[in-house]
Amino acid sequence: MIIAIDGPAAAGKGTLARRIAEAYGYHHLDTGLTYRATAKALLDAGLPLDDEAIAEGMARKVDLAGLDRTVLSRHEIGEAASKIAVMPSVRRALVEAQRRFAQKRPGAVLDGRDIGTVVCPDALVKLYVTASAEVRAKRRYEEIVEAGGSADYDAIFEDVKRRDERDMGRTDSPLKPAEDAYLLDTSEMSIEAAFQTAKSIIEAALSRNA
Ligand code: C5P
Repeated sequence: MIIAIDGPAAAGKGTLARRIAEAYGYHHLDTGLTYRATAKALLDAGLPLDDEAIAEGMARKVDLAGLDRTVLSRHEIGEAASKIAVMPSVRRALVEAQRRFAQKRPGAVLDGRDIGTVVCPDALVKLYVTASAEVRAKRRYEEIVEAGGSADYDAIFEDVKRRDERDMGRTDSPLKPAEDAYLLDTSEMSIEAAFQTAKSIIEAALSRNA
């Protein structure tokens, strides 16, 4: 039982994936953390971000059980992650680990950019969660301010757009909705409403599959 959730940065897919996993008792993997962990390991070791063989070596060492969201959520790690995510051999290494995770019982929810298109094309349910760049930048801004930090909305907005371009424009596994994905635009939707919509899609798929 696999649920695939894709979408651009800060669209709310992580929160949605966690809530779905909790509601159904499934395992959850935020695949962005696997790219982030690879990038962080390179940065920590003082290694370059543009050497594919070195980056692949790091990707193969990533331990899915040891991914720490708090440490990996830093902005510069996200930037570095999207740079190494364009490398086919890095993707291959991480996708292998993600596919193994997806086999966990009783089910798994994976969120990322290419779950429905590449990692788990046979997923029972595919959701493509999106929101306008303005709304996503505003959410990220409020998140930082609420956590007591200081943030610059314009810089975040530029950053969101740059990341979209990189993720949608790359040749290997670009971000795009799978043909059979349900589109969920959360621009004007609360996370609760998005969760209820997702739940009804999943319920319908589960009963068709029963
Ligand atoms: O989702 P998150 O912002 O943590 O992802 C960091 C970067 O990792 C993304 O910008 C994207 O380039 C890359 N990524 C990817 N494929 C995934 C998940 C993340 O290319 N399935």
